[in-house]
Amino acid sequence: HPSASKLFVISSLSSGVLIAYADSPSEGGKSVVELNQKVPQKKRVVVLGTGWAGTSFLKDLDISSYDVQVVSPRNYFAFTPLLPSVTCGTVEARSIVEPVRNIIKKRNGIINFWEAECLKIDQANGMVFCRSTIDENLAGNNEFSLQYDYLVIAIGAQVNTFNTSGVLEHCHFLKEVEDAQRIRRTVIDCFEKAVLPGLTEEERKTNLHFVVVGGGPTGIEFAAELHDFVHEDLVKIYPSVKDLVKITMIQSGDHILNSFDERISSFAEQKFQRDGIQVLTGHRVVSVSDRLINMRNKATGNDDSIPHGMVVWSTGVGTRPVVKDFMEQVGQGNRRVLATDEWLRVKGCENVYALGDCATVDQKKIMEDISEIFKAADKDNSGTLTIEEFQDVIEDVIIRYPQVELYLKNKHLFDVADLLKDTDGNDRLEVDIEGFKLALSHVDTQTKSLPATAQVAAQQGAYLSRCFNIWEKCKDNPEGPRKFRSGGRHEFRPFRYRHLGQFAPLGGEQAAAELPGDWVSIGHSTQWLWYSVYASKQVSWRTRFLVIGDWSRRYIFGRDSSRI
Ligand code: FAD
Repeated sequence: HPSASKLFVISSLSSGVLIAYADSPSEGGKSVVELNQKVPQKKRVVVLGTGWAGTSFLKDLDISSYDVQVVSPRNYFAFTPLLPSVTCGTVEARSIVEPVRNIIKKRNGIINFWEAECLKIDQANGMVFCRSTIDENLAGNNEFSLQYDYLVIAIGAQVNTFNTSGVLEHCHFLKEVEDAQRIRRTVIDCFEKAVLPGLTEEERKTNLHFVVVGGGPTGIEFAAELHDFVHEDLVKIYPSVKDLVKITMIQSGDHILNSFDERISSFAEQKFQRDGIQVLTGHRVVSVSDRLINMRNKATGNDDSIPHGMVVWSTGVGTRPVVKDFMEQVGQGNRRVLATDEWLRVKGCENVYALGDCATVDQKKIMEDISEIFKAADKDNSGTLTIEEFQDVIEDVIIRYPQVELYLKNKHLFDVADLLKDTDGNDRLEVDIEGFKLALSHVDTQTKSLPATAQVAAQQGAYLSRCFNIWEKCKDNPEGPRKFRSGGRHEFRPFRYRHLGQFAPLGGEQAAAELPGDWVSIGHSTQWLWYSVYASKQVSWRTRFLVIGDWSRRYIFGRDSSRI
């Protein structure tokens, strides 16, 4: 580094010497350490994030072929579907986390992990700038940079307040393990405050009014957990205030769980009604203060305020600042979410991949691709195709977007094509491409953005590692497995998401599940299915034992109400 005044050799890596420079200037006047591999023998892969996508990528990657460096502010993987259970002590926080270094150790090879936050991606120079989240190190700095040949961005998303006033200051979120632990302490605080002497009944009621904003799966699961915690454990410990507890759920849509099947959504509404959980649908929160939550009834336009003891904000996710900055660099500044192609490569970058909640497969690009495929097939620009050409087009579209296959086999296909005879009397099809694209966009397929779920993130991580693992082989055979009329050949088949269903635990040992093939299951047996699936999905035997142990402990002794 030209401006470095001190030089430290930190260690030797498989790929060459790792040199660190200190006292070099960086943004904000802080020094930057550059972790610079000298003439790397292997391609350098930098992975940002150790959540569902990042960990799933690392678990399957052939690390003998790459020099892998991982950056994340958390040195653990968290099993997020069990976070709502942590808020009430059904499961302990440490039972749902697995240290990243344990995951890395199992790989029998070198993966470097740096507990740090990526502050900036410099796409032009192939570098990422990071800052350690722990105190400054001995060299007196906590910033460093890494160079990459391939970058895998898997940093997830952040909470979305929709710029609602007072939310950041006065609401709890349920995104990280620390959030769940904070909620657990605050619930107990609310009860302890409510039983203090000298309070009026109104003040006690306010302290015990728990409000959940957002009627999606996370909000619902938290409300259900809280209801169970209060009615199974806390009412026995705080009998004097047991009749003052209230849980309210505010949802801007017309129904809760509206991404689920209608049967599940209405079952959840009825169950909550029976349990005494108030559900206010069609209400939008406009501001939150330390004691009041102000909302507007969307139908009448009337404003209303309710006092609260605690608010949990669970209304969806937004893009992290580092990703927004990167989007500006790659010409995606006008988009809401980072767009990738169906090989999960960031649009406009050859060597950057984005997985999980921080990115989405670009629908516009898919539609452009379909136009391209049609144009390439229509060699004489006549606007018509022979039936064979049309069949080839369909095959190409299916290879790229496998989820449309079922739809294309349907009768609708010929709604967008007219059968004509050409001058030689051969059959030709006149295809209304716009109509075709429109028809595809209505199908619930890959052409729509995938949901921000662990399932998608984990499948994307596993897919990308498979691609990286066969890359060398593909170089010997650059033609790749399939030919695409537009854009030439590609080494890999595109990412294909397999939806395995989704659960919504509703409390009282009941759950609802939407399973593949339009199967809906609701009730106590579904709760047992939920237990089995979530136990089997744990990343290690250690966490599996801990989680099952916690469930058994809760069953025998109830939840722990200490405020620690
Ligand atoms: P994450 O898992 O969020 O991981 C992001 C990683 O990036 C983390 O390691 C983070 O520390 C790291 N990071 C953040 N910023 C930076 C930075 N600047 N530099 C480097 N690293 C960074 N999905 C389901 O399918 N089923 C469920 O039941 C379910 N339940 C959920 C319950 C809750 C309470 C929550 C919050 C989510 C739930 N989800 C569920 C959604 C699921 O957790 C997410 O879709 C999934 O975590 C996305 O994976 P990801 O790898 O993209 O991001």
